[in-house]
Amino acid sequence: MKAACTGCGKPLAFDENRFGDREAVKVRCPSCQTVVTLSRPAHEEKPPPTPAPRPPDPAPKAAAPASGAGAPMADSAKGPPTMKVKRDAIAIDEEIVEEIPPLPRDRRVSLAILTGNGAGKVLSCARSRVVLGRAGSDIPVEDDEVSRRHAMLEIHDDRYILKDLGSTNGTFVDERRITEMEIHDRGEFRVGSTQFMLIVTPIEDA
Ligand SMILES: [Zn+2]
Repeated sequence: MKAACTGCGKPLAFDENRFGDREAVKVRCPSCQTVVTLSRPAHEEKPPPTPAPRPPDPAPKAAAPASGAGAPMADSAKGPPTMKVKRDAIAIDEEIVEEIPPLPRDRRVSLAILTGNGAGKVLSCARSRVVLGRAGSDIPVEDDEVSRRHAMLEIHDDRYILKDLGSTNGTFVDERRITEMEIHDRGEFRVGSTQFMLIVTPIEDA
């Protein structure tokens, strides 16, 4: 996949296979050192992308300089530093600086289906990032109005963040379409015709 660095705007290339089971990784831009979060791209109703020709491997990196200033790169001197300049993406290889955090050990986080297909079901979140969507998602939703990868719940330490993943029909909290919103225990949200409630259950020490 390709993404632009949020710091310097340079294109970054990241091998999607490196996501593994993760929904997102953080990488450090080799050019400006900004940490950029790359989310697994949604493959909504699209055929698999044809593999792009792999750019030749960059010269093996010497140990990074200790100074945080970032040594000037020879390439970056070419051309005016406009954001729109077409140039080869910088390949990101061993730059993962943070992976998905583990689930909290002291509580279980579940999503109860209140209305819609599967009403009454309680689905527990097996990871700290779960995708709600069609069959095959972490939280499968049998609902024609739900996109393949519709929304994601992120479990941070004690905060629960619901994000819409660019779904067709939207993700709603209190009938307001949201792109990202914190959800509290017993908070409700809706995707398609399916209403969910977040349920946080403390796990007693054994
Ligand atoms: Zn950058």
